[in-house]
Amino acid sequence: MSLPSLPRLEGVSLAILAEELGTPFYAYSKKALLAPFLELTRGLAPLGDPLICFAVKSCSNLSILRVLAAQGAGMDLVSGGELARAVEAGTPAERIVFSGVGKSRGEMREALLTGKDGILAFNVESIEELRALGEEAGAQGRIARVSLRFNPDVDPKTHPYIATGLHDNKFGLDRRALLEAAAECAKLPHLRLNGLSIHIGSQLTSLAPLSQAFRSLRAVIPEVEERSGRKLDHVDLGGGLGIRYRKEKPPSIAAYCALVLRHFGPRSGLPRPLRVLVEPGRLISGAAGVLVTRVVYRKKQGKRRFLICDAGMNDLVRPALYDGYHEVVSVEPLGRNGAKAVLTDVVGPVCESSDFLAKGRRLAAELPEGALLAVLNAGAYGFSMSSNYNTRPRPPEVLVDGSSSRVIRRRETVNDLLAAERL
Ligand SMILES: *Cc1c(COP(=O)(O)O)cnc(C)c1O
Repeated sequence: MSLPSLPRLEGVSLAILAEELGTPFYAYSKKALLAPFLELTRGLAPLGDPLICFAVKSCSNLSILRVLAAQGAGMDLVSGGELARAVEAGTPAERIVFSGVGKSRGEMREALLTGKDGILAFNVESIEELRALGEEAGAQGRIARVSLRFNPDVDPKTHPYIATGLHDNKFGLDRRALLEAAAECAKLPHLRLNGLSIHIGSQLTSLAPLSQAFRSLRAVIPEVEERSGRKLDHVDLGGGLGIRYRKEKPPSIAAYCALVLRHFGPRSGLPRPLRVLVEPGRLISGAAGVLVTRVVYRKKQGKRRFLICDAGMNDLVRPALYDGYHEVVSVEPLGRNGAKAVLTDVVGPVCESSDFLAKGRRLAAELPEGALLAVLNAGAYGFSMSSNYNTRPRPPEVLVDGSSSRVIRRRETVNDLLAAERL
């Protein structure tokens, strides 16, 4: 038996990248980034004018955003910082939507002043936010285009920390509040209600909760139009489609597109066609990235074996934060001598017991100190969630395209970290 390995990403040797850059580092495959985006684009084409807004928070490097923006992607933001990224990456304001429960007035102002008419939609999550936005738009002499985020109260059957469409989550407006907000919009002259949005959770591995949410969304449209006295232009179906980290069987992109078409497509029976927006993050970026790390020490403690690596929870927090699973493989092919596998924990150097990348994995018994490991499917919520905990400079990011590679974020230095504190 030979154990799985990943010597190269597209045509680029990860061992050579490790020589050049040091470890740890993130590497992304351009091909793997574009494949799901293009498949989604083709699958949703029957809608006429769909807009795929990439969830920037999943993987927010400027070069990654540029690649997607150049293919016609829009961007789904959750902060003013992400707005700056989207704009710098060349995304027109017409393709930007702004989500999140806690937009500050300053963030609202920046988004209102982006482009000629402000961004395509503020996805508003509370009446309080709606009023604040109305005031800010008035103060800027602008019209804010609003999409109200509906909380359809469905259980997405995912980890509780990434479920967002249940009534008890902080997200969205339940039906009553939604109708109230729709009526409020009609009273506020600087707001224009254009759409409704939902986003029920992340890493969904079944279409059933989405189907239920789409049905509830459709049902509420006429009521919202009546209360607001306006016809809607679009529905924003959020993101959340899962990827395969382990043994999950997430729905295919084709099945997802078929579901969207069934509910909102030309033959869906909607009284009037509505433009469809979607906000995928993980689906686009998740499988495109790997985190490459080097084994610093092998350690045995009682029955447990540890590979202590130079990447830790500050570099990739998903395992610590919500038990995220990532396959870990050797970079070098192990072949015949790598035959024997033993249960191993792959851990980092950070001073927390939750600092692990993988637990109880069957890894080659003789992976030596200095061996390179690749942590797979680390493109989404990997680097973008990284931190400087333990005063660890964050790793570089590299974009691989065929047989060439380009550093798209340099490694931070300790000096970078201290500079902000030398006042
Ligand atoms: C995080 C988020 C997304 C993307 O979720 P994925 O699971 O990465 O697809 C989309 N929309 C909103 C509002 C979000 O908060």
